[in-house]
Amino acid sequence: MKTDVMISGGGIGGLTLGLKLARRGVRVIVVERLTKKPVTYKGELLQPKSMQIFDGLGIYAEVVERGHEIGVLDMLELTSSLAVRDQSFMDYRVLPGKYNAAYMVHHEELKELLLETARRLENFHYLGGTAVKSIEENTATVKRGKETLAITADFFVGAEGRASVTRQAMGMKIKQTEYNHHFLTVSFPRAESFTEGQIISTYNRFLGLFPLPDDQVRSVYLIPPGDYKELKDKPISHFHKLYTDLAPGMDGYVQKIEDWKRIQLMIPVMYHAPFYVKDNKAIIGDAAHAVHPMAGEGMNMAIQDADILGELVADMLAQGGVDTANLGFYEEVRFKRAEHILQLSHLAALAYSFSFKPVSFLRTRTFDRMEEDPILHFKQMLNISGLGIWKENVRDRFIQGGLMPIRQKTLEEELKELKYFSPEDDYPWKREGFK
Ligand SMILES: Cc1cc2nc3c(=O)[nH]c(=O)nc-3n(C[C@H](O)[C@H](O)[C@H](O)COP(=O)(O)OP(=O)(O)OC[C@H]3O[C@@H](n4cnc5c(N)ncnc54)[C@H](O)[C@@H]3O)c2cc1C
Repeated sequence: MKTDVMISGGGIGGLTLGLKLARRGVRVIVVERLTKKPVTYKGELLQPKSMQIFDGLGIYAEVVERGHEIGVLDMLELTSSLAVRDQSFMDYRVLPGKYNAAYMVHHEELKELLLETARRLENFHYLGGTAVKSIEENTATVKRGKETLAITADFFVGAEGRASVTRQAMGMKIKQTEYNHHFLTVSFPRAESFTEGQIISTYNRFLGLFPLPDDQVRSVYLIPPGDYKELKDKPISHFHKLYTDLAPGMDGYVQKIEDWKRIQLMIPVMYHAPFYVKDNKAIIGDAAHAVHPMAGEGMNMAIQDADILGELVADMLAQGGVDTANLGFYEEVRFKRAEHILQLSHLAALAYSFSFKPVSFLRTRTFDRMEEDPILHFKQMLNISGLGIWKENVRDRFIQGGLMPIRQKTLEEELKELKYFSPEDDYPWKREGFK
């Protein structure tokens, strides 16, 4: 078999890249080892930049139709006796323009949409139930059942998630950071009126609730590592009570979970590959970086990688015979952006990692000031949206810490838009030309 680009792994990253390349007329084969939909939970929150990318791919309306819009994240801090001590809001609507909301979409439905759309294009080929075994220079060895096949390509992209064959073929080792907590995660029915994201915490507990379409809600509940086994021996009513203590509105709904079997353990990790590109190979998504789920970024980083790499490879092939060293543009654009999101998610994770009352106090003060100071609020939403980066400076930190007064000044919409990545920021080779 022969193609322009072979993508190893048909998750969200691989499929977004496959669709993008096929739309640009590139011949692409996506190789995916699974045949059936996995039952395990994966990312569901689409940030604004991902929506902009899907718009460019012509599937914005379909994603919106399958998604639940989230405009606001409601952060509630409770006392030990579970009374409301503080409430603050993080509002996507401070972002000017069309992409000023997040969307919750069932992970497998999004994959299905990407695959169905790509399959309508004649350049796109999908090999399901086929595992990539090794990649050498211009040939990959793949296995489907007992059959072994060779795929020849100009470029190979590793989109296999955390255990990446391509990353291995590139001779790379990663160093993983673990956290002092795990999560339980499960979705269940919700009241129709529960429509915005909510994070509820006490000094030693954390529950995140994110409405899904079809009147479902995704939940994540923080537990100490090792507690999962012990918890599972308790009656399921114990789990229900953990939720209804913190979120009385879930009473009557969380009880629809009748068995611990539906509840998944999620172990957060963080790593960043030292490089993304070697010769004619590149890695995207979780193959390149894993991020703590607190800021809902993992899937979005995979989509954003796919967008930049797809545009670059399509431009390189369109010019014919361009040096593979130009793949370096992908790393140049994405590495520092990914590093920023990894740090941002890590900090958000630390804010909930320590069960001490002073930490809870600092957290609420930081969130309150972030909501009240228009510049801090915009910076926070911009940075998580993926639409741009505006780093916090010393003054911001002082304001957050209560050492300086909050600013009253609101930012003009035009000024905010200047902070968005421009097409030149996203695709610098179009301006600079290839090497
Ligand atoms: C429990 C959990 C919760 C998460 N929560 C969130 C969240 O709230 N928000 C968010 O944005 N992100 C979240 N994430 C992260 C998000 O799901 C991932 O970042 C995202 O799925 C990465 O996409 P990907 O395409 O890079 O990799 P994956 O989704 O892992 O896809 C990789 C694909 O490659 C296939 N594959 C692997 N090896 C081979 C091989 N050798 N040959 C062929 N195919 C292969 C796999 O079967 C899989 O289909 C979560 C992840 C987990 C595990």
